[in-house]
Amino acid sequence: MEPERGSISRNRPALRQRVRIALLIFSFVLMPVTFAYVSCPLITEGASQGIATGGLVVFALLFVGSLFFGRLWCGYLCPAGGLQEIYTLVNGRPVTAGWLNYLKYPIFLGIFGSIALAVYSAGGLSTIDLFYQTGNGISVDRPGAYALLYGQIAFITVFALLAGRRGFCHSFCPIAVMLIIGRKVRNLVGWPALHLAAAPDRCVDCGKCSETCPMSLDVRGMVRERRMENTECILCGGCVDACPEGAVGYAWRGR
Ligand code: SF4
Ligand code: SF4
Repeated sequence: MEPERGSISRNRPALRQRVRIALLIFSFVLMPVTFAYVSCPLITEGASQGIATGGLVVFALLFVGSLFFGRLWCGYLCPAGGLQEIYTLVNGRPVTAGWLNYLKYPIFLGIFGSIALAVYSAGGLSTIDLFYQTGNGISVDRPGAYALLYGQIAFITVFALLAGRRGFCHSFCPIAVMLIIGRKVRNLVGWPALHLAAAPDRCVDCGKCSETCPMSLDVRGMVRERRMENTECILCGGCVDACPEGAVGYAWRGR
């Protein structure tokens, strides 16, 4: 399915990307509140006591979301994504991660394997505590929690500053892998979901889509080959909004 010519106005796209970046940065600023809900160590700790924490529930919801929206979470709402968008002001170099893209898979296996092992050792999950290790739902309410948060921020910082654009997403993030698995399951079955669609005949080879892509993908090549599915694509719509010819668009369809 091709994006409709003229369906992309000149003003709305810029606004969409501004709103997207604002959402991401807001999500990062909220991290002291939300940290416990995306923290793998806290999910593992809770699981080892047979507790399904708020974080585990959030992960389950993210997985279900990925069955329809792929990695949209990474593009619009992830706090670590927000932090990395800020760091592009310091190091906005495109990431040609190559084999480093694959590093996140063994990391995912290690982290999610630990969660599964913790559940197994506890004899299963026996209770739900949505606000586990929070004070009235707020994640950082004591000095120990700050240490965990700052440690995580420092870790993401190293990746983003050394590697470039979204270096942490490319090489380390286990949540990215979970969403990629959700997307693969969806692609296997083929129910309707959010996609990118390309119209190669409209492409004038200006390269603006590739320049804009926060995941450093060769979007121009993807359009030319009409092969818009890519595990590293976070469906941010940057290419959709950058293309002056309307050669890339969002689509909702099966298969
Ligand atoms: S290919 Fe387009 S939608 Fe996907 S990450 Fe790159 S700019 Fe965003
Ligand atoms: S921005 Fe549009 S016209 Fe330019 S290379 Fe990308 S798809 Fe082609």
